[in-house]
Amino acid sequence: MPSGFNYPSSRRLRRHGPVGYANYTSYRPWLRDEFTFRCLYCLNREQWGRVQGMFDLDHFTPQCIEPEKREDYDNLVYACHSCNLTKGDQKCPDPSSVLTSDQVIVHADGALEALTQEAERLIRILDLDDEECRAWRRIMIRIIELAEERDQELDKQLMGFPDDLPDLSRLRPPGGNTRPDGIRESYFEVRRYGELPATY
Ligand SMILES: [Zn+2]
Repeated sequence: MPSGFNYPSSRRLRRHGPVGYANYTSYRPWLRDEFTFRCLYCLNREQWGRVQGMFDLDHFTPQCIEPEKREDYDNLVYACHSCNLTKGDQKCPDPSSVLTSDQVIVHADGALEALTQEAERLIRILDLDDEECRAWRRIMIRIIELAEERDQELDKQLMGFPDDLPDLSRLRPPGGNTRPDGIRESYFEVRRYGELPATY
């Protein structure tokens, strides 16, 4: 897989479980950390552009279908504005279990190859393999390759973590946290222990 476009090798389980915020936007720091500062669908990273306005909190099951899940953390995912807009109110297969390296191959020319029907369906719903998305992926792959070869600093910027990692240990969700052990695995804590990799 080209650098920057490695879908995870297996289904991801949630590390965090904040509960009870009155407004779903309060979950943003948790979701940034949960999804490693990138769009769950297309893997676009905060480090690749302007963060302001570029990332949304997507209701995986659309609000119009299950409005009672509007403030449910487990129904929220971190997604770039473009993917969130394309998805709209459509229901789709769960990307946490479908967008994995054994079900989706990313080619160096930016094309995606789905190895399962569910992955194919999700890619189609999200337009992840349309010409515009392919072209964007192709450019990013080339930029990252050039940075790897010629500019280590740029490579670290593109492939590293953002500086403003959220300190989740200081947050107090009104209804508590069903997965408190996840705090130790948050990237802020990992950095505090000196264990944060330079790139991911
Ligand atoms: Zn995206």
